[in-house]
Amino acid sequence: MANLGTQSRPMRVAIVGSGPSGFYAAEAVANSGLDVEVNIIEKLPVPFGLVRYGVAPDHPKLKKVTMIFHQIAEKPNVNYFGNVKVGEDVSLQELESCHDAVVFCYGAETDRQLNVPGENLPGSHTATEFVAWYNGHPDYKNATFDLSCEDVVIIGQGNVAADVCRILSKSVDELSKTDIAEHAIEALSKSKVRRIHVVGRRGAAQAKFSSRELKELEALPNCLSRAYAEEIALTTADDVELADPTNYNSVACVDAFKRMSEASDSNTDKEIEFHFLLSPTAFHGNEKLEAISFARNRLAGDAFSQAAEATDSTQEIPCGLCFRSIGYRGKPIEDAPFDERRGLVPNEKGRVICDESNPNRNLYVSGWIKRGPSGIIGTNRADSIETVETLVADLERIERNSKAKADLTLGSLLQQKRVPYVDYEHWKRIDDAELSMGKTLGKSRNKFTSVTDMLIAANSGVSQVDYDYPGQSEAY
Ligand code: FAD
Ligand code: NAP
Repeated sequence: MANLGTQSRPMRVAIVGSGPSGFYAAEAVANSGLDVEVNIIEKLPVPFGLVRYGVAPDHPKLKKVTMIFHQIAEKPNVNYFGNVKVGEDVSLQELESCHDAVVFCYGAETDRQLNVPGENLPGSHTATEFVAWYNGHPDYKNATFDLSCEDVVIIGQGNVAADVCRILSKSVDELSKTDIAEHAIEALSKSKVRRIHVVGRRGAAQAKFSSRELKELEALPNCLSRAYAEEIALTTADDVELADPTNYNSVACVDAFKRMSEASDSNTDKEIEFHFLLSPTAFHGNEKLEAISFARNRLAGDAFSQAAEATDSTQEIPCGLCFRSIGYRGKPIEDAPFDERRGLVPNEKGRVICDESNPNRNLYVSGWIKRGPSGIIGTNRADSIETVETLVADLERIERNSKAKADLTLGSLLQQKRVPYVDYEHWKRIDDAELSMGKTLGKSRNKFTSVTDMLIAANSGVSQVDYDYPGQSEAY
C-alpha cells in the first residue's frame, strides 16, 4: 500500500507546458482523490499554449475554454510557474529532484519538412511561423512576410491551412477588432494578395478541413471560392469512403467543393482556389520564390488508405509567397526519451517508455507530444485523463522510484537558480493589462509581444518575485 498521495506524503507532480493538455492533466491529478501538489511549468510568462498562439484571432469563442483553465489554475493545490523553460532554465533531472512524477505536455512546436528543393527560399514559410506571428508570439514578432505579391500558395488542406487562408482573405477592418497582433494588422493592411491557391496532394474526399471551416471560407464576403470539376472527380474507393456513415465531414466537404466548382465568376477582390492531387516537386526563384512545380497525382490503394502516386503530368503555379501547412512536429527535451522518427515522446497509455539504461523514471506524457500533432482542444482532455489514470495506477512504482528530495520545492530551486518565474497572480496582471490596452484600441485584447513587456506588466503593483535577476534572456 503506497504512502505517497496521503496527507503525510503528498505527491508532487510537475506538468511541463500550459496548453490544453497541461491544464487538463493538472485537473485530473488535482481531482484524483490523492493528496497532491501540482506545478504547471511554462516557458513563456503567459499560459494556454496554442489556445493563445494557435487558435485564430477571428475565432474568439474557442478561446473561452481559458475560463475552464483559469478555474483549474485557481485550485488550492495547483501552482503556475511561468517564464521557466524546462531543458534550459531548469533541467529535467532538477525537476525530478523536487517532484515525484513529471508529465510532459509541451506540445509540438516545429514543423514537418517537405524535403523538396528550394523549400527554404525567401518567400516560402511554414504556416507555423505565420500563425505564431499573427498571434503575437514573442519568438516570431520580427518575422516578415512579403504580402506584396498577388498569388500565394498554401500547401496542405487541414484546418491550419484554412486559418491561414481566412487571415489572408478577411478584411483588415474585421480582423482589427480581434486580438490579432498589431504588427500583423499593419502588414495585412498593405497586402496585395488576390489569389490563394490551397493545394492538397490527395483528392477532395481526403481533404482534412472540418466542413464548418470550409463553409466559412465559402461564405467570406468579397472572396470567391473555386474548385475545378476535373480535379474533384471521385474514384470508386472515394465512393466507398463517402458511403461510410461516420465520414459525414468528408461528404460535407465534397459537397462544398462541388458547389465551388459550379459557382459562376464574380467580381470579388480575392479568390481562393482549391487544387487537388498535386505534390510539390521544386520551389523556383532567383533570390526569392517565383513559382512552385507540382507533380500531378492519382490515388492508389484501398478506401481509407488511398495514397498519392505521382503521374508524368506536371503543373506550375507562379507565386511570390508560400505557406507550408503540412503539420507540426514535436522536439526533444534534453535527457528525456524521444522518438525522432515520429517526433513525439514514446509511451504506453501516457507512461513514457524510458531508455534501458535508465528505466525507472516517473515520466508521463499527454497532448500533441504524446500522440502527434492532431486533434482539437477537447481531444486533449480525454488524452490527459488517460495519462493520469496510468499515473495513479502506478502509485507504488512512483513511490519506489521517486527521486524527490523532501526539503526541496520548485519555488526554492528556481530562486536558488535565480530564474525569474511568474506565478498565476502575475499572469492575471498581464491579462488585465492586455485587456485594458485592447479596450483602448477597440480590440478584444492587445497582446504583449515581448517577454520583457510581459514581465514589466507582471511586476506592476505588489510583487512577490524580484525580477532584477542577471541572465534574463536578451533574445526578447
Ligand atoms: P500546446 O497547446 O502547444 O501547449 C504546449 C505548451 O508547452 C506551450 O504553452 C509551450 O510554450 C509549452 N512548452 C513547450 N516547450 C516547453 C518547455 N521546454 N518548457 C516549458 N514549457 C514548454 N483546436 C480547436 O479545438 N479549435 C481551434 O480553433 C484550433 N485552432 C488551432 C490552430 C492552430 C494554428 C493549431 C496549430 C492548432 C489548433 N487547434 C485548435 C488544436 C489545439 O490547439 C491543440 O489540440 C492543443 O493546443 C494541443 O495542446 P497541447 O497542450 O498538447 O500543446
Ligand atoms: P492536418 O489536419 O493533419 O493537415 C495536414 C495537411 O497536410 C493534410 O492535408 C496532409 O495531407 C498534408 N500533408 C502532410 N504531409 C504532406 C506532404 N509531405 N506533402 C503534401 N501535403 C502534406 O494538420 P493541421 O492542419 O496542421 O492541423 C493540426 C490539428 O489541429 C488538426 O487536428 C486540426 O483539426 C486541428 N485544428 C483545428 C482547428 C479548428 O478546430 N478550427 C483549427 C486549426 C487546427 P494528407 O491527408 O495527404 O496527409
